[in-house]
Amino acid sequence: MSKTKYIFVTGGVTSSLGKGIIAASLAKLLQAQDFKVTIQKFDPYINVDPGTLNPYEHGECFVTDDGAETDLDLGHYERFLNVTTSQANNVTTGRVYQSVIEKERRGEFLGKTVQVIPHVTNEIKERMQLLGNSGEYDIVITEIGGTIGDIESLPYIESVRQLIWDLGKENTIVIHLTLIPYLAAARELKTKPTQHSVKKLMESGISADIIVCRTERELSTDLKGKLALFCNVKREAIIQSLDLDTIYDVPLKMLNEGLDKVVLEKLQLVPKKPLDLESWNIFLEKFKNPKYTLKIGLVGKYVELQDSYKSILESLIHAGASNETEIEVVSIHSEYLEEGDVAKKLLGLNGLIVAPGFGERGIEGKISAIAYARVNKLPFFGICLGMQMAVIEYARNQIGLTNANSTEMQANCKEAVIDLMESQKSVVKKGGTMRLGAWDCELTNFSKSADAYQSKMISERHRHRYEFNNEFLDRIFDDKFIIAGTNPETGLVEIVENHDHPWFVGVQFHPEYKSTVSNPHPLFISFVQASLAQKGK
Ligand code: GLN
Repeated sequence: MSKTKYIFVTGGVTSSLGKGIIAASLAKLLQAQDFKVTIQKFDPYINVDPGTLNPYEHGECFVTDDGAETDLDLGHYERFLNVTTSQANNVTTGRVYQSVIEKERRGEFLGKTVQVIPHVTNEIKERMQLLGNSGEYDIVITEIGGTIGDIESLPYIESVRQLIWDLGKENTIVIHLTLIPYLAAARELKTKPTQHSVKKLMESGISADIIVCRTERELSTDLKGKLALFCNVKREAIIQSLDLDTIYDVPLKMLNEGLDKVVLEKLQLVPKKPLDLESWNIFLEKFKNPKYTLKIGLVGKYVELQDSYKSILESLIHAGASNETEIEVVSIHSEYLEEGDVAKKLLGLNGLIVAPGFGERGIEGKISAIAYARVNKLPFFGICLGMQMAVIEYARNQIGLTNANSTEMQANCKEAVIDLMESQKSVVKKGGTMRLGAWDCELTNFSKSADAYQSKMISERHRHRYEFNNEFLDRIFDDKFIIAGTNPETGLVEIVENHDHPWFVGVQFHPEYKSTVSNPHPLFISFVQASLAQKGK
């Protein structure tokens, strides 16, 4: 008998219902009762991973310690649970097929015709049980991307069906998340799409055990009864998920609805300890009752889409709450800063973040914003491309290297203060080939960063190809513009700081991937504090 219990989360009716948040919230409730839980996401698209996707397509690409480029839902899992995820937590159809095809080329199928069933489904099933088989977890939650009825998700649904059969009903549970639309003209909530969606699941041999209903309005007892009857589930297994102001309220709402209870009962588990959400509640208390407010500018080229900078926005929420501060993020398109009066456009901000990014578009706008922040002593936090642009700005405007640039933007640039990493020069393939994942960084004494981290050695996650060009070390850095962190093995510059300024920090890594509710990131905390001090002036 399997020791690990498996929860599958599927979606119906429409996409974007927030399966990831429901999965993370359930995981939080189970974790708060001392179960060891992890979440994994199976995405039915053919990209091997989302690393090659434009943020407009799929939002931010999240990066794990082990260097996997993953779906942004993994960010939610880490932020909610304060545990790290890995390559194994995100699987796509592209990866599944890649692996099946490689096995076929190695002759592992012994002359058989290789087919979706059983070869692709076996590969999916194996991957679905990988983390469970490690013995590390009591419960594995598997989120299936996409919507029931999609052609591309069929092999996943079939794999779930087979796993339920393999592992036994007492060890598995299926949660189906659907939408209950409100028809304003009829003044009614409608259950029919959900009924159809549940039926569609049944056609594939899966009966949902729990239905989580996304809705704008309260579901009446009658309506819940009707849904239970037609969808073949217990009454208490109809869980209402009302739209909320913050995703961080979802675990508490799911608790009120009894989601964890229904799950534990079906899985024949008893809580290992009484539910403890104390630190979560303290966070929410601070988040909802701020004493201070801040306006932080976020300059980037994908600002139209909120999901592009998901982890940065969430990191600001964590650091804001820990400073009892409500942060209004003002999204500023970098191209908008390329012309006109930048000072006017940035007026009223208490701090400025320049976001990560790729390619040339909008970079001069980023550089102008950084110049403004440097000269006007506005707290500045440059992340990845933001740090690279801060170096270029300083080189051009303070050192007099007027043609300074990055070879990413200008291939034959003579004053290439940012250049392709040596290890990248022979790389031709795009997917999964950047400098990825966690790398050590040694901090310089008496720096803002060392103060913030309270530590000498840190580890942060990376995702980039370019770096500070060490040929310019002596020309750029002095006792004002300093290197605050370096990689101990390669000597790569990881953090720059301007000490002729109250708070000016640029980091080559992505601190936003490591901020969680219970562990807000030290640099974000420090940046918020500096912005509060600036506002106080
Ligand atoms: N485009 C830059 C590089 O590849 C920065 C990447 C980033 O901001 N993540 O180095």
